[in-house]
Amino acid sequence: MPAAHVLSPEVIESAMRRALVLAAQGPEADENPQVGCVILDAAGETVAEGWHLGAGTPHAEVMALSKLPSDAKAEDLTAVVTLEPCNHTGRTGPCAAALVASGIGAVAFGLPDPGEVSGGGAERLRAAGIPVAGGFLEAEGRAFLGPWLARQGGGQRG
Ligand SMILES: [Zn+2]
Repeated sequence: MPAAHVLSPEVIESAMRRALVLAAQGPEADENPQVGCVILDAAGETVAEGWHLGAGTPHAEVMALSKLPSDAKAEDLTAVVTLEPCNHTGRTGPCAAALVASGIGAVAFGLPDPGEVSGGGAERLRAAGIPVAGGFLEAEGRAFLGPWLARQGGGQRG
């Protein structure tokens, strides 16, 4: 059974709180949103963390995937991300594709991606057979990204 189905919402929300702290380490006034990602194993323990350092650098999900221990079994892992993984090839490839390629067991996210171009990541993951759930700590995530959300006019992420 996929990891998302065994991890409780409490475990995912706790990881989401940590992911929001990680996200805050990124640049606040960047054209890209501040995003954090925590990867949990089947027991709910953190095995990798990532955050976005600004446009043109790897996104939070990609940074976290790059830090996975070599003995991690991808299918047992759940990626907890503050924002829906992007589905857009800008200066970096789409995170949805990177997550699919990693063989990750499940994905949980906070806010849906509001970008007309970058949105659709959850659908792409589902299409690849990966269980996806959104809306974790959505109010906190929306408050955190308020300034960035206010700057979005159907824009895209790079
Ligand atoms: Zn991305």
